[in-house]
Amino acid sequence: MRKPKIVILGAGYGGLMTAVRLQKLVGVNEADIVLVNKNDYHYETTWLHEASAGTMHHDKVRYEIRNVIDKSKVEFVQDTVLEINKDEKKVILEKSEISYDYLVIAIGGEPETFGIKGLKEFAFGITNVNSSRQLREHMEYQFATYNMEEEKKEERLSIIVGGAGFTGIEFLGELTNRIPELCHEYDVDFNKVKIICVEAAPTVLPGFDPELVKYAVSQLERKGVEFLIGTAIKECTPEGIFVAKGEDEPHEIKAGTVVWAAGIRGNAIVEKSGFEAMRGRVKVQLDLRAPGHDDVFIIGDSALMINEEINRPYPPTAQIAMQQGETCARNLAALIRNKTDLETFKPDIKGTVCSLGEDDAIGVVFGKKIMGTKAAFMKKVVDNRSLYMIGGVPLVLKKGKLKFL
Ligand code: FAD
Repeated sequence: MRKPKIVILGAGYGGLMTAVRLQKLVGVNEADIVLVNKNDYHYETTWLHEASAGTMHHDKVRYEIRNVIDKSKVEFVQDTVLEINKDEKKVILEKSEISYDYLVIAIGGEPETFGIKGLKEFAFGITNVNSSRQLREHMEYQFATYNMEEEKKEERLSIIVGGAGFTGIEFLGELTNRIPELCHEYDVDFNKVKIICVEAAPTVLPGFDPELVKYAVSQLERKGVEFLIGTAIKECTPEGIFVAKGEDEPHEIKAGTVVWAAGIRGNAIVEKSGFEAMRGRVKVQLDLRAPGHDDVFIIGDSALMINEEINRPYPPTAQIAMQQGETCARNLAALIRNKTDLETFKPDIKGTVCSLGEDDAIGVVFGKKIMGTKAAFMKKVVDNRSLYMIGGVPLVLKKGKLKFL
């Protein structure tokens, strides 16, 4: 009898978790499992702010996919997904095509630029290993070039971060630790460096506890960050940005580096493949399948689920993507065994910790507020936990953050 073929697209938090759980749940004779990913490595997206700022080498945030999967059960295909043909049950890849009986779409999200002119072209993103490496090298280039020019361009030493949400704040935390090192390395006067964070919302870290937000802002301001809150970026140019507060006329802030860290949407491939989506995210059923497509699961940043308690979508997080991967694997195992009662996904939010650099953080864990070194310690525990869940102790020992304080 022909075995059902399960194809998992994307080896990020959601996809890789589905694969490693599925390889434990399903026997070799029960299904063919194929995992497709653009690169031969998985990267810890939640560590990219460190690689981007240059406080961690980008090789530390990634590991080979083949080292964590059971090759006797999961076939790994390194290729790029272009489109999904739901009617013919096949996926169009850059180098080939692949048919499926069951599909898991876990190709993550992409930056949402809200149509702001010039952002796509001129701002840097913190989205993958390539973008992080480019951002780090660009900032170093600006510092190196500053001293080479006879006519000094102070704006080379200005860095603008668009967005004071999770990603923006975590990046600022690392950046403020990195700048003194960069100044020392490139013989630049620290007082000439400007770090400006522009946020359109009326507060930093919207939705976070106000006491923790106050702590985060004061820590970052102490290290040199200037916050422009309630201020919108209107345009990004090769020279910097135009910003405006309320109805004011936009004015220019010149900067050699602009980083866009505000907003995420689902992967464009999902909409392109004909799934009905809101900002690229598909409102999935409680069993994580796409409505009207009993053979397609969508998890992670391309999936949308509503938190009924507050009637708002759950934020796209690694925590939820991994939990969805676990449920998705169990539901796939049930389906190939012809069971019809699939598990309902319910996120189990254990807490949130936002890093402010190597030795500082804020967070709420199991309902308790924490800040400072205690929170920084907790952040490392969380980071190591995600490694443990995919590759057990060996992966933690190889890639983990073992210097806790
Ligand atoms: P991803 O983990 O992004 O994985 C997607 C995978 O699909 C990647 O391997 C990618 O290479 C692959 N892929 C993409 N397109 C294609 C294609 N066309 N073909 C083939 N492969 C493809 N969340 C938290 O819970 N806690 C945090 O502290 C936290 N911190 C964050 C810090 C930063 C700087 C950022 C950027 C995000 C942070 N997040 C955090 C959010 C979290 O990283 C995402 O929600 C999570 O990565 C989503 O998981 P995913 O599986 O949907 O996608």
